[in-house]
Amino acid sequence: MKQYVLALDQGTTSSRSILFDHDGNICSSKQLEFTQIFPAPGLVEHDPMEIWLTQLTTAKLAMSAIGAQAQNIVAIGIANQRETTIVWNTETGIPVYNAIVWQDRRTSDMIDLLKQQGHADLFRRKTGLILDAYFSGTKLKWILDNVAGVRELAAEGKLAFGTSDSWLTWNLTNRREHVTDESNASRTLLFNIHTGKWDEELLKILDIPANILPRVVPSSGVIGEASSGLFGIRVPIAGIAGDQQAATFGNLCIRPGMVKNTYGTGCFLLKNTGTKALESKNNLLTTIGWNVNGERNYCLEGSVFIAGAAVQWVRDGLKFIDEAAEIEELANHVKDNGGVYMVPAFAGLGAPHWDQYARGIIVGITRGTSQAHIARATLESIAFQVSDVVQAMKSDSGIGLTALRVDGGACKNNFLMQFQADILDCVVERPTCLELTALGAAYLAGLAVGFWKSTDELEQVWKVDRIFEPKMDATTRNDLLEHWHKAVSRSQGWAKE
Ligand code: ADP
Repeated sequence: MKQYVLALDQGTTSSRSILFDHDGNICSSKQLEFTQIFPAPGLVEHDPMEIWLTQLTTAKLAMSAIGAQAQNIVAIGIANQRETTIVWNTETGIPVYNAIVWQDRRTSDMIDLLKQQGHADLFRRKTGLILDAYFSGTKLKWILDNVAGVRELAAEGKLAFGTSDSWLTWNLTNRREHVTDESNASRTLLFNIHTGKWDEELLKILDIPANILPRVVPSSGVIGEASSGLFGIRVPIAGIAGDQQAATFGNLCIRPGMVKNTYGTGCFLLKNTGTKALESKNNLLTTIGWNVNGERNYCLEGSVFIAGAAVQWVRDGLKFIDEAAEIEELANHVKDNGGVYMVPAFAGLGAPHWDQYARGIIVGITRGTSQAHIARATLESIAFQVSDVVQAMKSDSGIGLTALRVDGGACKNNFLMQFQADILDCVVERPTCLELTALGAAYLAGLAVGFWKSTDELEQVWKVDRIFEPKMDATTRNDLLEHWHKAVSRSQGWAKE
């Protein structure tokens, strides 16, 4: 009988379900987008019911597309958009408010107040996070403070909070299990990443009742079963991780020092620091990667806001190209950047610069500058930004990079990958399967049920598509980096009064 792991990839714009076989092949995949709700500038919501229904529908469609029955599914793994906050009434099963999405900035004032009260260090030490509206804690507080009758429900023990993994699991198990895994818990501002427990002191500061929080489970392990009413027979749910951590596991960055970068709209770099939680001195986040076999694995994380989105701008704003992929050919029309540098600080700069007032610039333009130079400078800017985060990680950990594993839409760009290898002076490894978020969830679930015996076996499954070796000489590299940093400094503080 053919056997698969069903991976549920609950993303920010779509729900996707993928069936992986034992060799890690994608045997079936279905995806449905759901509504992005923008009630006012800076606010972003999702309908939790739509999240649940699109996820369930894609799972059923992915199975029926290849005639797979529940008997063929050895386990379900979940990877999910992180930090997005859902609160529901456990008696009715109905959410008390829309999901408040990670991008939502409505709690910025709350965060400012917490900083003024001097809490930043405490949160940093206990949660590994920077006080920011991005994380779940203040979004949850906002719902408790602003939705009528919710605190009463909590007092009656009829309220539950969770990220979308919790919401899906609760629904999949027919309301039996209210759980989240350690990687998701570590993005809430409420979880002590050193003790592996919800933190009473932090809960008190945010005035959040502990009884609404999910039970925290390992990232790999059977936490319950999807009810027979959904798929015909019960199927174990055996793996959960936040999307970036899942992608790190999917790329098998399972040993200390290994790093993955996802090249999507933005970039997410995660470096495995093993069983040690490294506190960053360079404004990176310390986060739990996963807890597998009772061992908690930590990562340093740095994000770049604009990466593939800069390519979208060249396509839609400048209209130099019709498709994102065409930027590679355009960039290859010129032998170098011709002294042109672009800093895509369209929404400020993320790690490690953290400048919300920075704005995008293109510098070094002369009469000889062409579309191709700007295309090239755009791709180079993605690699330069990644290089800055890698440098910050190096300063924090004292360990340089030996190899970078990649995924995400823009990693298909060979020019970008070669330039990345050159600028980092290290090997870039691109795997054949680029659905690493889903694959990571599948690995976590499959390991728990013995579908894969060990991570050693997974090493046989992970296949490399292409290795990019650094070819650039040090003088050229240093010269490029020097000019890049000069350009960054020109972009900084631009929008400040
Ligand atoms: P996300 O998950 O953030 O939506 P994806 O991983 O799907 O992103 O990647 C899409 C991004 O990658 C887009 O911003 C797009 O501009 C960029 N992209 C896609 N293909 C290429 C390519 N061949 N070269 C450069 N950028 C690309």
